[in-house]
Amino acid sequence: MIPYGRQEVIEDDIQAVVDVLRSDFLTQGPVVPRFEQAVAEKVGAAHGVATNSATSALHIACLALDLGPGDWLWTSPITFVASANCGLYCGARVDFVDIDPRTYNMSHEALADKLAVAEREGRLPKVVVPVHFAGQSCDMAAIHALSERYGFRIIEDASHAIGGRYHGEPVGCGRYSDITVFSFHPVKIITTGEGGMAVTNEPALAERMTRLRSHGITRDPAQMTHEPDGPWYYQQIELGFNYRMTEMQAALGISQLGRLDAFIARRRELVARYNRELDSLPVTRPWQDPDAESAWHLYVICLGEGAGPNDREEVFRSLWEAGIGVNVHYIPVHTQPQYQAMGFREGDYPVAEKYYATALSLPLYPALEEPDQEYVLSELRGVLQ
Ligand SMILES: *Cc1c(COP(=O)(O)O)cnc(C)c1O
Repeated sequence: MIPYGRQEVIEDDIQAVVDVLRSDFLTQGPVVPRFEQAVAEKVGAAHGVATNSATSALHIACLALDLGPGDWLWTSPITFVASANCGLYCGARVDFVDIDPRTYNMSHEALADKLAVAEREGRLPKVVVPVHFAGQSCDMAAIHALSERYGFRIIEDASHAIGGRYHGEPVGCGRYSDITVFSFHPVKIITTGEGGMAVTNEPALAERMTRLRSHGITRDPAQMTHEPDGPWYYQQIELGFNYRMTEMQAALGISQLGRLDAFIARRRELVARYNRELDSLPVTRPWQDPDAESAWHLYVICLGEGAGPNDREEVFRSLWEAGIGVNVHYIPVHTQPQYQAMGFREGDYPVAEKYYATALSLPLYPALEEPDQEYVLSELRGVLQ
């Protein structure tokens, strides 16, 4: 089976993990801070806070921005459920902004319209979570300009986008946001098995997220309510979690990060071939914003004019029968029963729903070999013609 995405793990990665297993620390040692520093440096951010998943990084990012009951979090309906769930974890309410029909990212025009209405109704969001879908950055300058006008904070969900760029700078540099979150799940750009990281330029946010990652506990006397009882002393000053990453994961992450540029370059090569070879087929290829360079987590095509969900299902089934694990990213979050129970309805986000009806993710990962990609293309030609 050719999957839609998968990790590439080489001997060096394995050795890095084994070295940690032979060392003194399996958790809370020196390797996690090294990984945090390496990622922060790579993306041009001041601080990194590693976690056991991007989902937990999103959760503590929301908490660090004081999102809570009575507040609103807005995100895109075309994302993994975690981008929205983080708001619910905090007791906040969640709403969605429809997507741009070309990039499939949150539309900043739709965001502007919705903000104007929300201002009149007194329900402006506290946090907006733009998702860099498939690895292509949202129009962050436009979203940031709106945040200045309406006073919301920004968490970039860059789970797809480590190694991507926007306006010539790495995604994660934080020019247009408060916090950026990366995922290191095996289908993503680099992996730690499970894992994630929040990066920020604000020391206070980094400190708060570091504390929330580990039970809300501090050993810093400056943060305590009174002088420490002694050298053993710590205080839990708020409710946190155990969202820590292990040393083995961080070692794998450091090793993988060393190949980030090569991973992106390889993904680009594969994308260039898809773009070339799909030119003559009745499909929409992924449109690229000239202001951004995608990290190419996903290669999503939309079936051509007149195609509907039935055609997509037929294509999907035929390719699976041929051993090609195509996928659909994503089922609009507002159509999930969890969100329907909160009052969302089909039809609420028409652009997202139209996109969902015909979208299909083709296999894309650095270890995908040319003959396998050729096979995907020939099977796709076969079902479409
Ligand atoms: C994968 C993903 C997440 C969650 O990442 P985990 O590391 O699996 O928790 C969140 N948002 C988006 C957009 C994702 O693709």
